Amino acid sequence: MPLRLRLTLWYGSALALILVTFSTVLYLITSRDLRDELDQSLGDTAAAAVRSLEQRGFLPLIDENELMSQFPELARIDKFFQIFSPSGTITIRSPNVKQHELPLSRQALEVAFSGRTIFESAKYPKEPPLRLISVPIIYRGNLLYIVQVGTSMESVEHTLNRLLLVLLVAIPLAVAVSLAGGWFLAGRALRPVDAITLAAQRIAGGDLTQRLNAPASADEIGRLAETFNNMIARLEISFRQIRQFSSDASHELRTPLTVMKGETELALRRPREAGDYTTVLESNLEEIDRMTRIVDELLFLSRADMGEVKMEHLPVKLESLLEDIHRQAALLGQERGIQVVVGLMSPATVLGDELRLRELFLNLVDNAVKYSRPGGSVHIALATSSTQAKISVADQGIGISPEEQPRIFDRFYRTDDARAHTKKGTGLGLAICSWIADSHHGRIEVHSEIGKGSTFTVTLPLSPRQS
Ligand code: ADP
Repeated sequence: MPLRLRLTLWYGSALALILVTFSTVLYLITSRDLRDELDQSLGDTAAAAVRSLEQRGFLPLIDENELMSQFPELARIDKFFQIFSPSGTITIRSPNVKQHELPLSRQALEVAFSGRTIFESAKYPKEPPLRLISVPIIYRGNLLYIVQVGTSMESVEHTLNRLLLVLLVAIPLAVAVSLAGGWFLAGRALRPVDAITLAAQRIAGGDLTQRLNAPASADEIGRLAETFNNMIARLEISFRQIRQFSSDASHELRTPLTVMKGETELALRRPREAGDYTTVLESNLEEIDRMTRIVDELLFLSRADMGEVKMEHLPVKLESLLEDIHRQAALLGQERGIQVVVGLMSPATVLGDELRLRELFLNLVDNAVKYSRPGGSVHIALATSSTQAKISVADQGIGISPEEQPRIFDRFYRTDDARAHTKKGTGLGLAICSWIADSHHGRIEVHSEIGKGSTFTVTLPLSPRQS
């Protein structure tokens, strides 16, 4: 069932329920009040009759005329009187009693003997019901008369019937109007949702540059459209990144393949000496190593993306780990005439995976050596605060421009300076470093000045026992 119809029906049913409850209560209260009023007026008239009889000393009345002249206040058109003897027979009655005999009920007689007043209702076919009050007159302990005053309930019935009629017409009318109004309002409120659905269908058709014309309001619909637009924007970025990533990956793999193909073809063009073949094969092996590295790193990153890389959670002594790395890096540096120096080393233990942390620092030191100029130096230092360990790797190399700094952690991103400086490198190392730091609840920051050098700082939380 469409939302518009459902909303309208809910709205209509709720209103109908409220109106019916309200009308029932109104009808019941009005009907009780009208009857109470009628009983009150019957009681007042009966009291007047009793007073008049008292004034006459309870002498028996002769006939109707005397009754009417004696009690002018009783001669009301809308009420009639009957006076019964204690045996229950009528002694006298007002002329406006209709053609019916209205005998005293057995119950009224019994109640009269006990000295109490009683209200009763009586009904004759095809006539409005009657309301009666019977009041006993007791003189010196004896029941002398029973005065009965009655009246037709026609006006009460009439008023109640009118009220019922009004309610029966008004309720369906109000519900019908509310249904129409609800249908209109629900339609208006849901119109932007339809617009959003249409736009979403266009976007689902593949055009991620599409955006919803977000209503400028801060209401639910406005927020929905804004959230939707943000989501599509993020999707667009991810899709672009994936496309970029695939093209970068193929490009990075194609370069070594092209080199290998070219060298191999050249070697095969004519018979050569064994030494030439060895040179080609060595060069090919270098390219194969490079491709293997790219594929290994890609595999690691995709497994990391899927959450399949297992991480140890053990105490790792950073100072000894960094000493180790220093030894390895010193050898690397020697080859290129670069000095690797260890600076301040505060003892620090973190919880994590030693192999991965080794990979992280080795990558940073390897980059520092790789992007240094001959004669430069690389500084490794470890400092601690109360909760964190800060490991810095600083070089005096080619540096990174401020615009490029945020992008160097992207997969395959290499600055032009870096490409010009060395052919080695895959552009995946820092992406892996950043993932390793993240999964140790840490972070990597870079401060760099082009031509002067770079400092990479890794911040890791200390193991709780130590901090
Ligand atoms: P690569 O294998 O190319 O070194 P990385 O992911 O390790 O890939 O680094 C990405 C890019 O960041 C590098 O290509 C280089 O442009 C820049 N970079 C990283 N470390 C340094 C550094 N110490 N000095 C200058 N540039 C650096």
